[in-house]
Amino acid sequence: MKILSRFGLILFLAGFGLWLYSLTLNEFTLTPAIVQQSIKPEHQSTLGTRLQTMLNKTYSNGWAFSYAFDNELNGLNSEYKAAQQWDKVIYDEYSFAITKAAAKGPLKENPSLWFFLTFGLAILGALLYILPQLRLLPGIKNNQIFQQSSTARGALGWMVGTFLIGFYILLYYFPQYLVNWTLLVDPLSKALNGGEASRWFLYGFLYTICVMVMGIRMLIKYRHSSYQQVRTLSVMFFQTAVAFIIPEILVSLNKPYYDFKNIWPLDYDFFFDYNLNSLVQSGGLGIFMLVWGIILFLIGVPVMTYFFGKRWYCSWVCGCGGLAETLGDPYRQLSDKTLKSWKIERYIVHGVLVFAVLMTAMVLYTYFTGSSNVLFIDSYSVRSAYGFWIGGIFAGVVGTGFYPLMGNRVWCRFGCPLAAYLGLWQRKKSRFRITTNGGQCISCGNCSTYCEMGIDVRAYAQRGQDIVRSSCVGCGICSAVCPRGVLNLENASEGSRVMVAPEVMLGNDMKR
Ligand code: SF4
Ligand code: SF4
Repeated sequence: MKILSRFGLILFLAGFGLWLYSLTLNEFTLTPAIVQQSIKPEHQSTLGTRLQTMLNKTYSNGWAFSYAFDNELNGLNSEYKAAQQWDKVIYDEYSFAITKAAAKGPLKENPSLWFFLTFGLAILGALLYILPQLRLLPGIKNNQIFQQSSTARGALGWMVGTFLIGFYILLYYFPQYLVNWTLLVDPLSKALNGGEASRWFLYGFLYTICVMVMGIRMLIKYRHSSYQQVRTLSVMFFQTAVAFIIPEILVSLNKPYYDFKNIWPLDYDFFFDYNLNSLVQSGGLGIFMLVWGIILFLIGVPVMTYFFGKRWYCSWVCGCGGLAETLGDPYRQLSDKTLKSWKIERYIVHGVLVFAVLMTAMVLYTYFTGSSNVLFIDSYSVRSAYGFWIGGIFAGVVGTGFYPLMGNRVWCRFGCPLAAYLGLWQRKKSRFRITTNGGQCISCGNCSTYCEMGIDVRAYAQRGQDIVRSSCVGCGICSAVCPRGVLNLENASEGSRVMVAPEVMLGNDMKR
């Protein structure tokens, strides 16, 4: 078993190493034909002319090419700005498309082989590393989790965190430097949507394989718990089918890209003008998507949360939750359980919700009136700020990059406006609670340790008090790791929820 696992680890590292190495492959040459095809007619005489110095020069890697291109474009824009010729400044994002068009070499000529050597080997290796766990007796094993460098904020954890943060920064703000990775998934993209892979296709693919492979790990690790099995299969399905494959097929049919499970305000650009226009102009299906999106947050969230708590979304459907529950599972013990962090969490997450509501109100005002000024504030600047700070930095760079440092639900706990909205319903109007059989609790603290949302579950268990916290995502891990069967996730009548600690702890005989 150990030999198979070690072989799997070697294969995984080989695939991962080749994937990193692939960024250095290919040569990049800008030809007149690429300039002609990739640059808009109105920029041919300015940017097109400026690029003459780069024509037919071969760059040994994409980084050098993109750097040279960005220099030319930024130099041109600086000149226009210095001369105050604002109408000539070029804001179009040319860098990624031009770098991709200029690539030639092994990744472009044989992407399928390189796909196998990178993703194929890494996936195979990861599965070989994980599958031998099946031979152990069922039951959760978190052995040495606080001694291992990767899961206890050691050097390996910091390295993984740094890699993830770097990846998200490049993906969001400098995608031109990741062109080689998009070449690897071009064949898959063409098969699904008929076009070449964008950075978002690459991201969707990586996201999906992480959820699938680490989902298999979850299925094995928690195989004694049917709740965890079904929940994990659910997030694997929603990520693969609803978030990745269906939107790509819609694009191939000339329909709007649409993730049917993404709900405003998590889907913060749902009410942006370009999205509304695209839906309205797409006929019956587009109108259905628009109505579906509105019904989901107006009716779907309150009704489903009333019956099942926010777990129906956060732990069963959501893509962010899906990644947190699969890729993030090894890091759940790193969430901060202090009262201070609970206080900070409430301020920030509800602050983001208010920001999202105000930003959307301004965007809709601009959409219906045509005026971008709302109380002397430019609505386009507000939505750009939201996209940069919340949609990019918080949700991506911090939300996932900080998994190995602050636990797997940093975004869901501190930043997600939809989680805040769901949480308000869960706290005030829901049948969901975690019941605690206080008399059985031995205060081992497993439940608090592995609560990814930083809830001090033990404190409730010791008092025999129901857990009705707005932040609880109903992952059920506290219940799964409890050695005494103290905790139970339940949907029962609203009136039987114990919202405050009973004066006398009655243990098994506690009356409701
Ligand atoms: S209290 Fe339990 S079910 Fe709720 S988030 Fe924490 S571990 Fe998950
Ligand atoms: S895991 Fe169970 S026994 Fe241990 S502190 Fe939590 S509720 Fe009590």
